[in-house]
Amino acid sequence: MKNFKMAEPQTIEQLASLLAKEKEKVFLIAGGTDLWTEIKEEILEPEIVADLRTIPNLSYIRKEKDGVHIGAMTTVAELASNPLIEQEYRGLHQAANSVASPQLRNVGTLGGNLCQRPRCWYYRDPQILSRKKGGSKCFAFQGRNKYHAIFGGGICYIVHPSDLAPALISLDAEVALKSTQGERVVSLQDFFVLPSINIRRENILGPEEVLREIRIPLARKGEKSTYLKFKERGAWDFAVVSAAVSGSVSGNSFSKIRIVLGGVAPIPWRLNKAEEAIKGKKVTESILRQVAREALQEARPLKENEYKKDLVEVVLSRAVMSLLKKV
Ligand SMILES: Cc1cc2nc3c(=O)[nH]c(=O)nc-3n(C[C@H](O)[C@H](O)[C@H](O)COP(=O)(O)OP(=O)(O)OC[C@H]3O[C@@H](n4cnc5c(N)ncnc54)[C@H](O)[C@@H]3O)c2cc1C
Repeated sequence: MKNFKMAEPQTIEQLASLLAKEKEKVFLIAGGTDLWTEIKEEILEPEIVADLRTIPNLSYIRKEKDGVHIGAMTTVAELASNPLIEQEYRGLHQAANSVASPQLRNVGTLGGNLCQRPRCWYYRDPQILSRKKGGSKCFAFQGRNKYHAIFGGGICYIVHPSDLAPALISLDAEVALKSTQGERVVSLQDFFVLPSINIRRENILGPEEVLREIRIPLARKGEKSTYLKFKERGAWDFAVVSAAVSGSVSGNSFSKIRIVLGGVAPIPWRLNKAEEAIKGKKVTESILRQVAREALQEARPLKENEYKKDLVEVVLSRAVMSLLKKV
């Protein structure tokens, strides 16, 4: 492992100045559950690692007039056990509880979860120069691709590993990105980018920026949400396929619905057409399965991951149906 310097900024402004000066030389560390592995395995070779833990006041969950504000350094465990999140944003509560193991949830942060790097085995193998590391070939395309993308691939077939991202996008969350230029707020959906837009990063975060805060609109009466995750092992595991659904329910229909899949694409995968097809109609399981099959016409599975199509059909319809049940 190459030597690097540790920076311990005391304020977010100090960190922004460091990033403005040193740019790509700096890697941010929050809980370190992902970053340390990448450094130890020499996938990354930072010159400077800047510790976000030395900056106070980045960990909070606050209900304000315009929504719920969550600091980027809030741990996944804090999110998972917060009563407001549990009562008003059930899907996010379920997603947080499904992340990794209790030990990792105690250390891993929300900001780190959204900015974590892909788990593609070709990317994680220090011997392989995958496209994400500057190579010219996606090894998953003709190689082992059981866990890879069925939507949005093309030049690179990673799947986005975050459980919190689909849940937050289904809730229409925004992120505040801080730099010396000030702060820009973007929808979390637009935060993530496909490999065809940027092969080296999974999001729009510039080298001078840090994710400071996540904001969720206030939950309205009648709004419900859920997160259903299919994983291969009963203990901790990443999603093979997951579905985050939120919406306004009345009887057996939705006046508003947002559906975001996890584990199937290089970014959390929003199903706009499926949402339109469901909105306003009396929903039954067979209608949902039909809607899912239509959405899956855009899927381009690889040799080993065709099975994800069946999983999408089941996970999606079960997730939506669960919101119709009276609790
Ligand atoms: C064994 C294991 C199992 C896991 N299982 C799951 C799972 O089931 N579901 C799931 O969603 N995740 C899973 N993860 C991933 C883990 O949950 C996330 O890695 C964790 O939330 C990341 O948070 P962190 O604070 O440790 O991030 P770090 O490791 O500190 O950082 C991760 C990345 O985000 C960047 N970063 C961190 N904070 C910021 C910020 N505020 N602004 C800009 N960039 C930032 C870092 O530079 C780094 O690139 C697993 C990880 C492991 C090791």
